[in-house]
Amino acid sequence: MKVAVYYNNQDVRIENRPIPQPKSDEFLVKTKACGVCVADTMEWYLTPRAPLTLGHEAVGVVEEVGSDIHNIKVGDRVVVHHHIPCLVCEHCRRGNFTMCESFRKTHIHPGGFSEYFTASAAHAERDTLILPENVSFKAGTLVEPLACIIHAIQKAGVKAGDSVALIGTGTMGLMFIQCLKYWGVRKLVVYEMLDWRINKAHEFGAQNVWKPGNDPQAELEKVQELFQSDGADKVFIAAKDISAMKLGMNLVNKGGTVMFFATPKPEESIEIFPSHIFFNEITITSTYSANHLDTRMALDLIASGDVWADKIISHTYPIEELSDAILQTVSRQESLKCVVEFNN
Ligand SMILES: [Zn+2]
Ligand SMILES: [Zn+2]
Repeated sequence: MKVAVYYNNQDVRIENRPIPQPKSDEFLVKTKACGVCVADTMEWYLTPRAPLTLGHEAVGVVEEVGSDIHNIKVGDRVVVHHHIPCLVCEHCRRGNFTMCESFRKTHIHPGGFSEYFTASAAHAERDTLILPENVSFKAGTLVEPLACIIHAIQKAGVKAGDSVALIGTGTMGLMFIQCLKYWGVRKLVVYEMLDWRINKAHEFGAQNVWKPGNDPQAELEKVQELFQSDGADKVFIAAKDISAMKLGMNLVNKGGTVMFFATPKPEESIEIFPSHIFFNEITITSTYSANHLDTRMALDLIASGDVWADKIISHTYPIEELSDAILQTVSRQESLKCVVEFNN
């Protein structure tokens, strides 16, 4: 089978390896599609661990099932979430599944950018979802990224009637717009730098899409004017530039919440004024992943058409061109989600 091995964004090599033989507590999936995530493009994060096989947004057909697994069968069209919580540790018992040690250690092998991958019985039991007939393999690759958005919206405690500021309208930002509307948010302002993405945000239903100006106070006043309040009840920062973080921190309402949904480089920082946070009771929070409850809801929203999967995916590539897909994702040129498709 062909396996893509990542060295850096420009250097991804195809290796030929034998198809893995699943053990009794494993199953084998023939990969049909796998999305390229921004996390698959962050060289500062990846190259220290390279060479490695990426791909955690994988979808395929079950090819072989170990004798200890009973809830999936050969031929099932599945999306397999790569991280699985143990459900019994201290973090899981508190509902913080994404902080579970097993969650972070579990993976699909060797990864989604491979013609086949194996996963464990725990994957099969807890977070392998059958794709409904009306959800294509390609659309199924959005379950994991969409689940991350749902996780963030839930953790931020978004309620119908909230006012929301969203910074960044890449692939994730556009899905945020649709999810926030689903949650009953009618007062939404979206910040975006790039013209073509501004047009996309309008197309996806955002009415107020603004380019951030240089004066933070002026931006806050515009938001206050629009929402007729002291700021946005919830702020989602879905861009990894440090300027986006600063902008977001500045727009939050008294008693509001700022959600850090993207990561800058570890050495980048912003200033925080505890006195301002204290007197205004501001909540600062973040999410980095999604759990087995979020993936189920994500699949529902794709199947129902509330999230436009087909419009989110702009480019498809064969596995041999994974490096091009990564570079396209990094470029921020006119592209949204890039997906590797397998026609095996
Ligand atoms: Zn991802
Ligand atoms: Zn756990």
